[in-house]
Amino acid sequence: MLKTGTLIIGGGLAGLSAAKCLEGKADYLIAERENRPGGLAVTVKKGGFRFDYSGHLLHLRWPETSRFILDALAGNCARIKRDARVFAHKSWTPYPFQANLSGMPARVKSECVAGFLKAYSTTLHPSSLLPHPSRLQPEVFTRWTRRVFGEGISRHFMLPYNAKLWQYPLERLTTEWCAPFVPVPKPEEVIEGAYGKRTEGFGYNTVFHYPKRGGIGALATALALKLRGLRLGLEVESVNLKKREAAIRHFGTVSFRRLINTSPLNEFIAGTQDAPERIKKAAAGLRHNTVYVLNLGARGVKSAMHWGYFPEKRFPFYRAGIATNFSNHLAPAGCSTFYIEIATDGRALDLASAEAEVIRGLQACGLIRSAGQLAEKLWLKIPCAYVIYNRERAKALPLIFDWLKSNKTQSIGRYGAWKYSFMEESVKEGLEAAEQIIDGV
Ligand SMILES: Cc1cc2nc3c(=O)[nH]c(=O)nc-3n(C[C@H](O)[C@H](O)[C@H](O)COP(=O)(O)OP(=O)(O)OC[C@H]3O[C@@H](n4cnc5c(N)ncnc54)[C@H](O)[C@@H]3O)c2cc1C
Repeated sequence: MLKTGTLIIGGGLAGLSAAKCLEGKADYLIAERENRPGGLAVTVKKGGFRFDYSGHLLHLRWPETSRFILDALAGNCARIKRDARVFAHKSWTPYPFQANLSGMPARVKSECVAGFLKAYSTTLHPSSLLPHPSRLQPEVFTRWTRRVFGEGISRHFMLPYNAKLWQYPLERLTTEWCAPFVPVPKPEEVIEGAYGKRTEGFGYNTVFHYPKRGGIGALATALALKLRGLRLGLEVESVNLKKREAAIRHFGTVSFRRLINTSPLNEFIAGTQDAPERIKKAAAGLRHNTVYVLNLGARGVKSAMHWGYFPEKRFPFYRAGIATNFSNHLAPAGCSTFYIEIATDGRALDLASAEAEVIRGLQACGLIRSAGQLAEKLWLKIPCAYVIYNRERAKALPLIFDWLKSNKTQSIGRYGAWKYSFMEESVKEGLEAAEQIIDGV
């Protein structure tokens, strides 16, 4: 039986960062089931194009992890000012919608501004500050968006966009994820964004980083370099936390002292032989959506936009981006690459009809003139893409994490921790998990 000090399940950014920190300091093994490292942060080559698993932009916010990521990329990284937009009512307006109503028709603008001001004045009322029984539980999205943004912004953007993205009833979706991702403007910013100057520099991702060459996969490739404990093509089928053993498909048993899991929490617990029934039941109730990404290589694209949001039902996709506008090395000269994201609740997507609708949608918003411009395509599927925030999740996670902690197991990363997070956060959690092991915590 193979023995290791720390077994890391998964070689995405969380697992690779943990390993990079342990390298040379502690014995470890990363078991990654795919034949390449990087998890979701990989780049696939096809017909002269390079496609990511949808737009994967680095939103760096913490000094230590920013340094770690930029050091790994060793100069292969550009800092780019965001050009993100929203397409609604046959018009483009800058993102975020709530702070940039300038591009919307007059009636939509006034409905949104009036609704926002009404919601704002209600929120200011002293009674709204009193504890309300419903506030003891996480607030649901439909209530939150109307309370914070008012009817107009909710109706024209927040509700239809989030319904498309989450594929889960918004009256049951809770809002713990909103704070970093949904910026809330002040009244004067809403008014200026509608009738005065544009407030594009608003929100968490006004500037982002992206590798100059190689797509986002360049980061994982750089991190994986010189990791002596990285083993590709090894799938962990089950673990026993009491015995400190993992069963690896076509390989055998590995015994470990410490465990870092980065695979999806629900699958990890289902494969944990000694998890009590109450923990298995809690994990079985965790929900997620599925995202299909249609990547297209195209000629003669004129738009300089990085990505756009599409709240309206007539577009099957919730977001579409042009990756060559942040790295022109992703396509042959004169060509561009699109990534188009369609979410489902897990149901299989009919790719042929979705593709026809996507092409009609790209024409309707003016991103392409005709299907004749398209030169390449690649569908990619992300089975577990966005974890669903609901009351079941809020109850399940403390139970599961208490039990894992009592069994000296760390479960980290976007899916190991079961949260809406981003690449830098996976890196951060990987480094922190490894530091705890080195410190003997
Ligand atoms: C549509 C979409 C767009 C996104 N856009 C951005 C963005 O623009 N910017 C950003 O910062 N973040 C973005 N993210 C989030 C980003 O992808 C993640 O935060 C990050 O890549 C997660 O890294 P991770 O290591 O935590 O997980 P993962 O990348 O999921 O890595 C987990 C690894 O575990 C492996 N694995 C799973 N089960 C097993 C097993 N049983 N045995 C062995 N190996 C296993 C998997 O193969 C995988 O390699 C986006 C996510 C999605 C879904």
